[in-house]
Amino acid sequence: MYKLTRATLALNGLGRCLAVDKHVSALNIPCRRLVCAEHKDDSSKNEVYDVIISGGGMVGSAMACSLGMEPNLEGKKILLLEAGKKKVMDKVPDTYSTRVSSISPGSATLLSGIGVWEHITKMRCKPYKRMQVWDACSDALITFDKEDLQDEMAYIVENDIVVAALTKQLDSLSDNVQVKYRSKVVKYAWPMPHQAADSIPWVKVTLASGETVQTKLLIGADGPNSMVRRRLGIPTVKWNYDQSAVVAVLHLSEPTENNVAWQRFLPTGPIAMLPLSDTESSLVWSTSHRLAEELLELDEESFVDAINSAFWSNENQSELIETAGSLFRSALSAIMPSAGSPRQLPPSVAGIGPKSRVTFPLGIGHASEYIRHRVALIGDAAHRVHPLAGQGANLGFGDVACLTQILSQAAFDGKDLGAMQHLLEYETERQRHNLPMMAVIDLMKRLYSTNAAPVVLLRTFGLQATNMVPALKEQIMAFASK
Ligand SMILES: Cc1cc2nc3c(=O)[nH]c(=O)nc-3n(C[C@H](O)[C@H](O)[C@H](O)COP(=O)(O)OP(=O)(O)OC[C@H]3O[C@@H](n4cnc5c(N)ncnc54)[C@H](O)[C@@H]3O)c2cc1C
Repeated sequence: MYKLTRATLALNGLGRCLAVDKHVSALNIPCRRLVCAEHKDDSSKNEVYDVIISGGGMVGSAMACSLGMEPNLEGKKILLLEAGKKKVMDKVPDTYSTRVSSISPGSATLLSGIGVWEHITKMRCKPYKRMQVWDACSDALITFDKEDLQDEMAYIVENDIVVAALTKQLDSLSDNVQVKYRSKVVKYAWPMPHQAADSIPWVKVTLASGETVQTKLLIGADGPNSMVRRRLGIPTVKWNYDQSAVVAVLHLSEPTENNVAWQRFLPTGPIAMLPLSDTESSLVWSTSHRLAEELLELDEESFVDAINSAFWSNENQSELIETAGSLFRSALSAIMPSAGSPRQLPPSVAGIGPKSRVTFPLGIGHASEYIRHRVALIGDAAHRVHPLAGQGANLGFGDVACLTQILSQAAFDGKDLGAMQHLLEYETERQRHNLPMMAVIDLMKRLYSTNAAPVVLLRTFGLQATNMVPALKEQIMAFASK
C-alpha cells in the first residue's frame, strides 16, 4: 500500500497528495517531505488534468465552480488558470465600482445553484423591477415589467463583486478545483483528432513561468481576444462599432425607490442608467469615440449636465415624427385601450463618484465554431456583444450551464470529456440561443444609430406596437432572462 501511495503521488502531484493525506498520516509518512519532493520532481510538470479552464473572469470562474460542484464530476481533476491576481474582497468597499452587469434571473439561478448568489447578495446587489426604453427622436417607448411589479426583472451587480463571490466559492471547492492565479498561458499545443502516430494525446498548455500542464478538455474562457480561439485558427466574424462606452457612478439628486433600469436611444448611441442604491446609479453611455473622449474631458458639472440633457432633451425630435407617432398611438389605443404602460420620468443626476469615468471600446464578435477536438470556447471568447441589451455575461453564464450539463452527462455515461460527440451538442445548443440574440442586439444598434426620418418612423411604429402587445413583451422578457 505504501508503494501504491507513493506511485499515486508521483503520478498525480501535489493535488493528489492532499487527497491521500489520510492514508499517508495513517502510515506515519511525513507528508510535508513528500510535498517538497513533488515540487522538485519534474514529473509534476506535464501533469494531466481532466479539464483546464483558461481565463478566470466572471465566466471562466463560474465554469470552474459549476464543474467543481457537479456530483457526476467528483474525482475529476479541474484546473483554472488566470493571468491576473486573486481578487478577494474582505470588506465591500464604501464606493461603488464603475463596472457593473445586469444579471438576468437565469444567470442568478445558475449562480445560486453553485453557491455564489448567496455570497453576492450578502455583499451587494440591486434588483430592479421595471425597464423603460425610449427613443430620443420620437415619443416612442417600451416598458418591461413583471406582473404587478412583484418579481425582480434582473439585478445590477458590480463585476468585482461577482468575481469576489466566485473566488470565495472556489476557495471552498479547493478539494475539487485547483486555481492558479498570476498564471498566464503563453502557448498551446493541440492533439490530432484521429490519434495520428505523431500526435500528442492531450492539449498541452505552457504557462509564462515555463510550467506545462496537459488536459483532456481545454475550456477557453479567455475573453474577447481569446488566445485559445486565435491559436486554433477558428474563424471569427467581428467588427468594431466605432463606439466607446463611457461608464461612471452617478449620484441622484434625491433618494428614490430606484428600481427601474432606464435606457434612451440617442442618434449617437444608447445611454443607460442602472440602479445601484436609493441614491446611486450606474451610467453606461455608448457613443462615438470622439464624443466619449470629450465626455471624459468635461469637468464634473458639465458632465452631469450632459447626462441630464441626454435623458431629458427633445432636441432630436421633429414635428412630423411626433404627429405620425401620436396618430399611430391613438389608432392602437382604439384597438387595445388598456394595453401599454405609462411613461415614467428618469431621476435627475446631481454628481458622479470620485474618479469614476472610464471608457471601453465596443464591438461584436462571433466564433464560427465553439468547439474543436478537446476544446470548447465559452463567454466572450466565443461571442462578444454590444452592452445595449446587458447580455454579454448572461450569454456566457448560459454557456456555463449548458456545458456543465453536457459534461456531467458524459461523465455519468463514462465517456471521454473531450470527445467531439457531446461537445457538438454544446455548440449546437448554444449557437441556437446566442446567434438570434446577437442578431437582435446588432439590429437594434443599427436601427437606432440614425435620425433619418423613414427609419425613425419605422422604429417608432414598431416600438409602439410592441409596447401594446403584452404577450410579445412577455416573450421578449423570457428570451432575455435566460
Ligand atoms: C460597458 C460594458 C457594459 C456591460 N454590461 C453588461 C451587462 O449589463 N450585462 C451583461 O451580461 N454583460 C455586460 N457586459 C459584457 C460583460 O462584461 C462581458 O460579457 C463579460 O465580462 C465577459 O466575461 P468573460 O469571463 O467571458 O471574459 P473576460 O471578462 O474578458 O475575462 C477573461 C479572463 O481571462 C483572463 N485571460 C486572458 N488571457 C489569458 C491567458 N492567456 N492566460 C490566462 N488567463 C487569461 C483575463 O485575465 C480575464 O480575467 C458589458 C460590457 C461592457 C464593455
